[in-house]
Amino acid sequence: MNVILLGAPGAGKGTQAVRLAEKYGIPHISTGDIFRSNIKGQTPIGIVAKSYIDKGQLVPDEVTIQIVKERLEKDDCKCGYLLDGFPRTVAQAEALDKFSKVEAVVNVDVPLNKLLKRITGRRVCAKCGESYHVDYLEGKTTCAKCGAELIQRADDNETTVSARLEVYEKQTAPLIEYYAQKGVLITVDGDGDIERVFNSICEKLG
Ligand code: ADP
Ligand code: AMP
Repeated sequence: MNVILLGAPGAGKGTQAVRLAEKYGIPHISTGDIFRSNIKGQTPIGIVAKSYIDKGQLVPDEVTIQIVKERLEKDDCKCGYLLDGFPRTVAQAEALDKFSKVEAVVNVDVPLNKLLKRITGRRVCAKCGESYHVDYLEGKTTCAKCGAELIQRADDNETTVSARLEVYEKQTAPLIEYYAQKGVLITVDGDGDIERVFNSICEKLG
């Protein structure tokens, strides 16, 4: 199954992707995670990506499309994939259509006024990438799944988040219509608890 998770920053894509990848046995591919790992390794892609990510802007299409194209060619994608955070522009979606067949696009819908709190309170596991929110951590600073340290992403501050939400509205939201026209769009209400959102995605994916 070739699936895309679409939604604003903070909508819960990563949270659901981890669970869906496990249930369906397909790889979870997050372009944000790929960029962060390149930044950590100080690779040429990481150096370019950092200058955009720090400002809340999108990394240029040419760079991002090439990374995803190469990733989808790997053996573990033969039975499907779950893309999280890609595509984010119509140009990326058109490029993806040329090298892969998208079967379902899950739009995780969360009201804009909830996103800022979700993102600024987000803490992520430095090792396995699991997402948490400070409101539910009860002061814990390590990952319940793997025990590694929880960190706050450098771009999860109020200034950068505002820029990211603006970029989402302008450049990514048009993809909802793009995929609706293609008849592959599934919309789920992302404003419920994590388990409920997960069940509603699974129900619709079948
Ligand atoms: P995205 O990958 O779309 O940017 P995340 O999955 O990282 O979003 O979630 C953003 C924040 O919101 C995290 O702190 C996460 O724990 C929290 N979160 C995710 N899903 C829900 C939900 N259904 N209800 C409340 N908080 C959630
Ligand atoms: P995310 O982890 O999905 O929140 O992404 C973090 C940041 O990485 C974004 O704000 C962008 O700067 C960059 N990024 C991730 N995916 C893409 C993409 N498909 N196109 C361009 N930039 C991206």
